[in-house]
Amino acid sequence: MKILVPVKRVIDAYVKPRVKSDQSGVELTNVKMDINPFCEIAVEEAVRMKEKGEAAEVVVVSIGGAKCEEILRKALAIGADRAVLVETAGEDVEPLVVAKILKNLVEKESADLVILGKQSIDGDNNQTGQMLAALLGWGQGAFASDIKKDGDTLQVMREVDGGLETLSLKMPAVVTTDLRLNEPRYVKLPNIMQAKRKPLDKIPAADFGVDLAPRVAVLKVTEPPQRSGGELLEGSAAEIVQQMMDKIGNRIAG
Ligand code: AMP
Repeated sequence: MKILVPVKRVIDAYVKPRVKSDQSGVELTNVKMDINPFCEIAVEEAVRMKEKGEAAEVVVVSIGGAKCEEILRKALAIGADRAVLVETAGEDVEPLVVAKILKNLVEKESADLVILGKQSIDGDNNQTGQMLAALLGWGQGAFASDIKKDGDTLQVMREVDGGLETLSLKMPAVVTTDLRLNEPRYVKLPNIMQAKRKPLDKIPAADFGVDLAPRVAVLKVTEPPQRSGGELLEGSAAEIVQQMMDKIGNRIAG
């Protein structure tokens, strides 16, 4: 079984994003970037499946500028076998474009399973996996918190409102990862060194014949409103509750 894992380069999850002064987007100059956390979980899951003998090869792919090589090397250090960088001029491509390119790649690679993150933390789109499954006509298990392989079937447990749902997916299939699926391993220095020698192919995005032009225009990006300072209430518990009720009442009335 061959697993394809698409990984996206995004602003580091621990960095507080700042809006550009012209409000055209989020400032990315000199900002620490990293692999999207949900994609890291996807790589970890694919590598674990390979370590259990359930997969023969794990191929990671990123669609973006030349700097995506950094996150592909990180995925190779986690344990992926091979990487593909689909190079664009650096612009952020939309989920439908990503899904169309991935469909081409899945067919070219004859992949049996695609594991994606459930969403990229920059655009919060939560679209690519679902679109890819539709384009391929494959079954999908989105927001997986557990994956078990049984022959050519996958049991995917997913967290839904009010409980857990278990799906049985006939492969080939598309799965997207939720936060609780696994905890990615700490990558050690020898693995980082080893990853530098693993194969990484670069293919220009234009070779896929997909129109890269955006369909959505960002009109304006603004910072969330400043939170006003808190207020200390005094008195007994009952008095404090009453004061809070009055304040809420005033806010609704006013
Ligand atoms: P999104 O639909 O943008 O929230 O992204 C969901 C998942 O699709 C990500 O976690 C990745 O696995 C994959 N993905 C999105 N954009 C890219 C990209 N430019 N390159 C590779 N994979 C991507």
